[in-house]
Amino acid sequence: MITPPDSHRSFVMGQIHSKGTKPEMMVRRGLYALGYRYRVNVSNLPGKPDIVFASRHKIILVNGCFWHGHKCKKGNRIPSTNKEYWLEKINNNVKRDLINLEKLVEMGWEVYILWECEIRQDNEYLAKILNFLNH
Ligand SMILES: [Zn+2]
Repeated sequence: MITPPDSHRSFVMGQIHSKGTKPEMMVRRGLYALGYRYRVNVSNLPGKPDIVFASRHKIILVNGCFWHGHKCKKGNRIPSTNKEYWLEKINNNVKRDLINLEKLVEMGWEVYILWECEIRQDNEYLAKILNFLNH
C-alpha cells in the first residue's frame, strides 16, 4: 500500500473518523429539534449507517463529498500529490458504499443519501429529508 505524504495525513485522519462530523451534526440537530428520534451509527447494520429511523425503516446517510467521491466541486478536489493513491482509496469507498447500500435495500430499508454540499443555510435539504421520512 502507498503511504500518504505527512502533510495530508492529518487531513485524511479527519476524513476517516467522520462519524459525528459537522454536517452530520447539523442534520441531526435539525431533525431532533423537529421532534424526530433516531439511532446513530448503528453498528449491526451494513456500513454502520449514520442516522437510523428504526420504526419507519428508513436511513439517512450524510456523505462527505471528498471521502465518498461525489461528482461535485468539493468531491473533485483530489490532492495533486499522490493522486493515484487518493483515487484508488476513494474508488474503494464508493464501491463499499454501493455494496452496503444494496445490502440495506435488500434488508428492506429505504435509504436517503444526503451530500455534504447539499447542506446549506436555506434548509432546503431539510425539507427534502422530511419529505423522505414522511412518505
Ligand atoms: Zn458534493
